[in-house]
Amino acid sequence: MAEDASLGDFASEPSEDESDDETAERGDEPASVTVSTDDVEPATATYRVAATPEPCAECATETTRLWRDGERFVCGDCKDW
Ligand SMILES: [Zn+2]
Repeated sequence: MAEDASLGDFASEPSEDESDDETAERGDEPASVTVSTDDVEPATATYRVAATPEPCAECATETTRLWRDGERFVCGDCKDW
């Protein structure tokens, strides 16, 4: 009766029980807020003073002070502030 009880040297393999919790944080990262300021209107109001009254492009009222409204000039009442 040869008991084969040769419990050899169990190679104790190193179990990776080093739980790295530092790499576990994910999912709830705050999104980086980017403020874009490329849509800034110039604060300076553009208008032109005419020597002679000119009709407003909107209401045809003649005025010497025409405010720029896009590509046309309107009077102060029609100027969309
Ligand atoms: Zn007008």
